[in-house]
Amino acid sequence: MKPYELFIGGTWVAPRAGGRFDAVNPFTGKTWAQLGEADASDVDAAVTAAAEAQPGWAATNGATRALILNRIADVIVDHASEMAVFESTDNGKVIRETSSQMLFAARLFRFFAGYADKLYGSVIPLDNPHVFDYTRREPYGVIALITAWNSPITLLCNKLPAALAAGNTVVVKPSEHASVSTLELCRLLEKAELPPGVVNVVTGAGDTGAALVEHPGIAKISFTGSPAVGRRIAAAAGQNLKPVTLELGGKSPNIIFDDADPEAATVGALAGIFGATGQTCVAGSRLLVQRGLYERITETLVERAKAIRLGDPLDPASEMGTVANRPQLDRIMAAIEGAKSEGARLLTGGGRARGEALGDGLFVEPTIFADVRNDMTVAQTEIFGPVLSILPFEEEEEAVRIANDIPFGLAAGIWTRDINRAMRLVPQMRTGGVWVNTYRMVAAQAPFGGTKESGFGRERGEQGILDFTVQKNVMIDWSGTASDPFAIKN
Ligand code: NAD
Repeated sequence: MKPYELFIGGTWVAPRAGGRFDAVNPFTGKTWAQLGEADASDVDAAVTAAAEAQPGWAATNGATRALILNRIADVIVDHASEMAVFESTDNGKVIRETSSQMLFAARLFRFFAGYADKLYGSVIPLDNPHVFDYTRREPYGVIALITAWNSPITLLCNKLPAALAAGNTVVVKPSEHASVSTLELCRLLEKAELPPGVVNVVTGAGDTGAALVEHPGIAKISFTGSPAVGRRIAAAAGQNLKPVTLELGGKSPNIIFDDADPEAATVGALAGIFGATGQTCVAGSRLLVQRGLYERITETLVERAKAIRLGDPLDPASEMGTVANRPQLDRIMAAIEGAKSEGARLLTGGGRARGEALGDGLFVEPTIFADVRNDMTVAQTEIFGPVLSILPFEEEEEAVRIANDIPFGLAAGIWTRDINRAMRLVPQMRTGGVWVNTYRMVAAQAPFGGTKESGFGRERGEQGILDFTVQKNVMIDWSGTASDPFAIKN
């Protein structure tokens, strides 16, 4: 069993009150690591360490920060396989995905390293020709980064390199359900000789996160998690007048038109809901299929879903791993029962998956409901598991209406070979992102985030780093004259 401490000021420290909690492997059901439960005094120590390190970190020039961030990327690449094993052991996600996620984390470090010495301001011509006006991009100070359990390193690295490249220091609070890979990342930061205090990690449950959010030393909060907790964080941030980025849940429409490539669309539908065992914020959990392809797509999906290879998350042959933790399993099973009772037609799955190779692992069968109406609970609430709702539609306008008739606005997929249709539909999707003829594709350069109850702010892409900066405007009057003190100058 691996014991972990908190990572504060570049050293590993025991929680002051001595609290501990267990990390349980969702495949074996066994406790495999023990973590420190940080209380408010530990959070205070972490914020203090970050605050002490921040001026020095911000004072390093961009080129130096870029060098260090690139060094971190190198170390992540060197240790990608071990990191993937830590994460898959902790949250049951298949190793083929966590392995590529580690390389993507390194890519994000390199991408934001490239911005560290290119945080340009603008020179702005004013009406008054005797004033030189320019803008600067400055760090906020200490940022709180709070993440969910489904992809701890990806979610963290959507934020961390951008925050650091901009000259901020951070206190990270990973999910209590999957903290190990974040702590292991700290070991890699040590190897890469990141100065102490620039990154601090406090582990613990919601109370630890709440103490961090409430801490007066925090200048900005960046949160990835559920809309319910997002609301509480936004309320606390509002009370304390702190800026906040929220990356929340989704119930994304994946829309297949009659003119789509049926094979590509089927694969996109599978990726959308059974990739990552459906435990992804962008899950294409509402599949809208036009009548002409409805029977064909539904039948093929059922066939393919039945053939998905469930197994040991650490086995490269496994296509779907376990659900990440017991509370999540219970939520998924309750949602499936709810869908049955409200009359959705169960085509496949619907229960725990069992078998010799699956042991006591928290496996759920790939589950498909057809003939779902958009007003059903199964179509409106985020399940965060391998449960697909298929909704038929006749006309394009109807598809748009159904797609947008949801409180969430994270992502949408459109499958069509008609470029005019695609161009027409993209602006109509009330979502932060749209995929056309692909699904669940990520890129360091492309901004990611939500609208409506899926949150606000952007990660990755240029906006991903700008959101970690404060824009300062500077006016330099070089006229050498004094003007009327009782009239505003312009
Ligand atoms: P969660 O909201 O329960 O927990 C997220 C984090 O918040 C955890 O670290 C938790 O300990 C912490 N937390 C809990 N209460 C808190 C409080 N009062 N103050 C501060 N922190 C608190 O979410 P989860 O169950 O870990 O993750 C699943 C959710 O995350 C889903 O809704 C999913 O869609 C969402 N998610 C969104 C994205 C995205 O980028 N949009 C990505 C992944 C997951």
